[in-house]
Amino acid sequence: MNKIWLSSPHMGGQEIKYVQEAFDTNWIAPLGPNVDNFERDLCQYTGAGHAAALSSGTAALHLALVLLGVSAGDVVLCQSFTFSASANPIVYQGATPVFIDSETDTWNMCPDALETAIRHYVAKGKKPKAIIAVHLYGMPAQMKAIVALSELYDIPVIEDAAEGLGASYFGQKLGTFGTLNVLSFNGNKIITTSGGGALLSNHGAFVEKSRFLATQARDPAPHYQHSHIGYNYRMSNVCAGIGRGQMEVLDERVAQRRANFAFYAHQFADFEGVTFQPEAEGSFSNRWLSCVLIDPLRTNHRTREDVRLALEQQNIESRPLWKPMHLQPIFEDTPYFGGKVSEKLFENGLCLPSGSNLTNEDRARTSAAFKSCFEI
Ligand SMILES: *Cc1c(COP(=O)(O)O)cnc(C)c1O
Repeated sequence: MNKIWLSSPHMGGQEIKYVQEAFDTNWIAPLGPNVDNFERDLCQYTGAGHAAALSSGTAALHLALVLLGVSAGDVVLCQSFTFSASANPIVYQGATPVFIDSETDTWNMCPDALETAIRHYVAKGKKPKAIIAVHLYGMPAQMKAIVALSELYDIPVIEDAAEGLGASYFGQKLGTFGTLNVLSFNGNKIITTSGGGALLSNHGAFVEKSRFLATQARDPAPHYQHSHIGYNYRMSNVCAGIGRGQMEVLDERVAQRRANFAFYAHQFADFEGVTFQPEAEGSFSNRWLSCVLIDPLRTNHRTREDVRLALEQQNIESRPLWKPMHLQPIFEDTPYFGGKVSEKLFENGLCLPSGSNLTNEDRARTSAAFKSCFEI
């Protein structure tokens, strides 16, 4: 039995053409025409004003914090229910992450808990420096409410759209709502450059400065001169070639992932205690990963772990939902605002195989293994 992966790279066919171009012209460096064109493609697709292609989504998040002047002792509010890469760069800067719970409509940052946290820190004279909102599994967060709070309290939003490329919210593409916005092209994401990321913004000066910082912050001089601390965070022209090819199939990839979700939702529609990540009104998810909740109180004690192991036995990869940051050992003593929403999602949630390259056979096998848990 071949292994069915959670989410594996899926080339469209044209990537190699752009990579070949890079080789033919010897543009192997971390700059060149593929990088410029990939950035242009990202802007055209999302509607963002400016984009910088970088070495990873994590690098983009780190530069976003640097650009907003986040430094030692500052407070940054961050969605708790996310991958650790959303939060780690806060610590790189010596700042304190403060984690915010999710709400049940989108599974993303709860605007009420966010406002409670903002007020708490404003009252202490310690206004947070930034809000990191995440679109988990490609599902848009409640950006209207989050942006409204950002404007009310004058705290910039960093959109972690690492999982959200191709999704939209009231007709506007994700990656365009924050002051600074982050994409990832890691191997498991909806499109990939093998490894890579991007910083998007409507503020050209921010993106310009991110390019400067990402290439070791060299002052304009014939020798190497530095007035800032720099980073080596730029995307290579070879990887950007993969990205250009992937952009040509992005909408197709979104459709394929949404079809996976529709398949599972249909297959398990009548299963008591099995529910899915909801798509709120105005939201168009890219369904990067298809996520189910298995409530043991309604499934005669079947748990998500039972399902995960049953799939594993059939050589099918699945994974629990992200473990919230406030429950991670490394963030044990970190402040947290909210209740038990994300904790509950982690307890009961499972990501099913979701690659855009799944065959009908793969999906049928997954569905059969899933259903086998619920027999008798
Ligand atoms: C993948 C991911 C990142 C990090 O992106 P990399 O390109 O892997 O560094 C950040 N945030 C979220 C939510 C992610 O899923």
